[in-house]
Amino acid sequence: MTQITPQPGIMDIALYESGESHVEGVSDILKLSANENPFGPSPRAKEAIAASIAQVSRYPNTDHAPLRAAIGEVHGLDPARIICGVGSDEIITFLCQAYAGPGDEVLHTEHGFAMYPISARAAGATPVVARERERVTDVDALLAACTERTKLVFIANPNNPTGTMIGGNEMARLADGLPDGAILVIDGAYAEFVSGYDGGIGLATQRDNVFMTRTFSKLYGLGGLRIGWGYGPKAIIDVLNRIRGPFNLSELQMAAAEAAVRDRDYAERCMAENARMRVWLSEQLAALGIPSDTSLANFVLARFADKAEAEAVDKHLRSLGVIVRRVAGYGLPNCLRMTVGDEAGCKRLIDGVRSFQETRS
Ligand SMILES: *Cc1c(COP(=O)(O)O)cnc(C)c1O
Repeated sequence: MTQITPQPGIMDIALYESGESHVEGVSDILKLSANENPFGPSPRAKEAIAASIAQVSRYPNTDHAPLRAAIGEVHGLDPARIICGVGSDEIITFLCQAYAGPGDEVLHTEHGFAMYPISARAAGATPVVARERERVTDVDALLAACTERTKLVFIANPNNPTGTMIGGNEMARLADGLPDGAILVIDGAYAEFVSGYDGGIGLATQRDNVFMTRTFSKLYGLGGLRIGWGYGPKAIIDVLNRIRGPFNLSELQMAAAEAAVRDRDYAERCMAENARMRVWLSEQLAALGIPSDTSLANFVLARFADKAEAEAVDKHLRSLGVIVRRVAGYGLPNCLRMTVGDEAGCKRLIDGVRSFQETRS
């Protein structure tokens, strides 16, 4: 018998399934399954990537100072309270590794992001699920699920895949009600899509038990380069920096992210276009008799009669080269998550759904 066994919890991890990008036999693919920016990154980010290629033989800087300074300037934050990672996924991993281990609990919501239980289990901790109220984060349920073993509470706001969010007062009530020693992590992957929302910056600035994560993968169109960041109490940043690999980000990643975050004009145009097409998409779905919650992110969660119908729509769309996201793994078998594309993409999606209904009637 082999003595080689992984740490407890590892074999309980269900592998993350990413949004698919291919359909057998179809060449003109419209990928609306991974919440990517249909316009891609800022042209300035692409220029920065090209320029940094000359430096790839050199090790990158280890403290990310220029990128942290740029993020700090744009968001009005102290760069000393910022940490950068390989996607915000890496920041989530650091948090679990640093603060949760065997016997500890990591709390998230019913339809919360799949990386929370994965990272919790990888650290040997136990993921705990709090129910939502009609696909919205429920602070009372979260507080009721807390125990003295709760070390981390992850809330994506807006949440993926529901697209819904809770307000600042509710988030503050959650932070105030947590047991001693627990950290509230506000995942702001979609915060930029909500006009007037600070993404949790205010709370993470004021409280010693609140941390915020952000990403360059969604609004900034750099998912393929893997860059994210976290912001919060200096004491937590100091802990996370101890487990962060010194060269976790390349100069190429940092240069791209810095150019992207400084290009406010491009970011604002992408936000405006997303808001416009998101409304259009949900209205068109509603006109076809398909309800969705008001989304504040860059996707819409369409609800169908049942699992069979959601699967049939998905299959039909795929045959047309349109790939959306099945979310049965998130406990939403009758739903499909549809990324807001550009205008042509949204029209192609709606045409596809309409032609599904026509084949049925
Ligand atoms: C996409 C997403 C992220 C971002 O992940 P990266 O590792 O930064 O690409 C984080 N949280 C949620 C809820 C997401 O949907």
